[in-house]
Amino acid sequence: MPLLNKNNSAVKRIMQEARELANDPSTDYSAAPLEDDIFEWHCTLRGSPGTEFEGGLYHFRILLPAEYPFRPPSIMMLTPNGRFELNTKICISFTNYHEELWQPAWGVRTAIIGLQGFFPLKGEAAVGVGSIEYPASERRRLAGLSREWVCPQCQRQNAELLREDGEGERKVPEKAGDDGGHGSVGGMEPAKPKSHRPPVVLDGAICIVFVLFCVLLCRRFF
Ligand SMILES: [Zn+2]
Repeated sequence: MPLLNKNNSAVKRIMQEARELANDPSTDYSAAPLEDDIFEWHCTLRGSPGTEFEGGLYHFRILLPAEYPFRPPSIMMLTPNGRFELNTKICISFTNYHEELWQPAWGVRTAIIGLQGFFPLKGEAAVGVGSIEYPASERRRLAGLSREWVCPQCQRQNAELLREDGEGERKVPEKAGDDGGHGSVGGMEPAKPKSHRPPVVLDGAICIVFVLFCVLLCRRFF
């Protein structure tokens, strides 16, 4: 791993985003920086239900500039999809084609959700650098093939990178290093399952109600 200046504001911000995405994963997308370059992320996005991309899984690169987050990320599609050209910087409003629209408060997650919204756009709204308009039948065919598509760099299938029910996603940051795939950034701790236990106050209230009930019972019989 190349030496990273952890005091660099872009590096700090990117590591914070990587940690946040690993600890709070989505069933719609997975994203992590490459182990040897945190300015390049590989992400997998699920095609929206009710569109010709339904059932599809699309892998793409997000490239972050050295000035991140003050300059926007670029997105390059890798999985054939019939909506965006491959290996071309895609023109969508928050990428480097429209720098003036990008806001530093946004992040990688915003970019992915934005891309998801751009997928089903049609006609005028869909025109831009990197856009292609394949017939719906071809997009559906590509969606079907996309699940088995393997990223040459991650060396894993899309279906493996983004599982159906979110199962297995949490182990991605834990397994970093031994599979050579998407991994963690140095020092990133694995996601902890959130506790669904009711707060202590509630336990106390239940105790008080129980004691009162016993007192009432005692009064009745003695
Ligand atoms: Zn990849």
